[in-house]
Amino acid sequence: MTDTLKTYMSRNVPRYTSYPTAPHFSKAVRPADYANWLSSLSPKEPVSLYLHVPYCRELCWYCGCNMKLARKDAPVAQYAQTLNQEIRLLAKQLPDRMSISHLHWGGGTPTALVPDDLERAMQSVRDNFDITADAELAIESDPRTLTDEMIRRIGQLGFTRASFGVQEFDPKVQKAINRVQPPEMVRHSVEELRLAGVAGINFDLIYGLPHQTVATLLETIRLCIDMRPDRIALFGYAHVPWMAKKQRLIDETALPGSAERLRQSQSAASALVEAGYVAIGLDHFALPNDSMAKAAKAGTLRRNFQGYTTDRAETMLGVGSTSIGRTPSGYVQNLSETGAWARSIDAGVLPVAKGVALSQDDTLRGHVIDRLMCTGEVDLDAAALRAGVSQNWYHIHEQELATLEADGLIARRAGRISMTKEGAPVVRVVAAVFDAYLATNIARHAVAV
Ligand code: SF4
Repeated sequence: MTDTLKTYMSRNVPRYTSYPTAPHFSKAVRPADYANWLSSLSPKEPVSLYLHVPYCRELCWYCGCNMKLARKDAPVAQYAQTLNQEIRLLAKQLPDRMSISHLHWGGGTPTALVPDDLERAMQSVRDNFDITADAELAIESDPRTLTDEMIRRIGQLGFTRASFGVQEFDPKVQKAINRVQPPEMVRHSVEELRLAGVAGINFDLIYGLPHQTVATLLETIRLCIDMRPDRIALFGYAHVPWMAKKQRLIDETALPGSAERLRQSQSAASALVEAGYVAIGLDHFALPNDSMAKAAKAGTLRRNFQGYTTDRAETMLGVGSTSIGRTPSGYVQNLSETGAWARSIDAGVLPVAKGVALSQDDTLRGHVIDRLMCTGEVDLDAAALRAGVSQNWYHIHEQELATLEADGLIARRAGRISMTKEGAPVVRVVAAVFDAYLATNIARHAVAV
């Protein structure tokens, strides 16, 4: 690794699951704004639905999510009831009964709900929306707490994909992050889900964890490959204890340094490609016949709050506390405190905490960042034409782009930028050149690799 690449890798840059990124959402966006945005949607365009459950039955120390530990069922059941109310409230704001082409349950741990509550919520969705015949219905789960009864129900409800945070199988690493789940436990869940009819299985893996080495990660990958998940996401652990308080329980002295992190990420990526997975974007891998590999090949891959996605809907409706919604007019984020979120819904008011109305400049820059993150290249002139702005718009970034080119991270031809092989791991740094908001908030983000 060159010193130049090392310097770029240590930069704090966003993950760009949206643009503008969530820290730039403001309270100026009110429920009435979101209601207007929703009522102006085209009823013919399918939307996607994201349902958030902030509860978990176990606490993982590496976790950066806004979650609550659910020791009892009652608060989770109450939350599930309010979710159903919110689904009805959202549907009322829409211009007509709309179709859903993509549905995702995330968290937290959505399977912290009891099976009957999950079924009632899915019924609320079906009562208020049409789910297209080829829709993807996905749910995140935790193998430590997923019951066979829940697996059967997930199958009966027509889910097409389930994802698990596997992270790392080494017992010492699992203990250091408080996520103990032996391979047999994960294998059991995967096999039962497949028997229940859930064809798509996703695993998340993490490198850069305490006590983790290239050897432990490669052994984890060997065990994963044996279970043949359709998709594997490989993320770098972002140690930000000043933001994620749970991470204060992690022994910082056991964390690998940046050179070791890069070795882990590169060794893991090579092992996955050797095993027949297609590398997608910054951190995903999929079997060649998986829809994500096909979308990457066709250039239709997108990015949203879950990372890379095959979801092509322009609108995502977020349901649940903290969830983020997106329409062509802007982003909104729901209230994160579950009590305030529920009170707003009880009062018949969309539980919007903040958001951002998209300007023409936001849409243009968002498109450029999305293309770089999803395909590793972008045609800046074509982006200008699409947005109806002057082709000169990016010349203010000329100096930064020239430096990135001289350092071998990007190649430029006419108005087109492509990531080089060396630059690919730091695509976020290149995307950040086009981020008009970044300078004000740089310290909040994790390092680039
Ligand atoms: S990593 Fe997942 S299961 Fe663990 S505490 Fe965070 S949200 Fe819950």
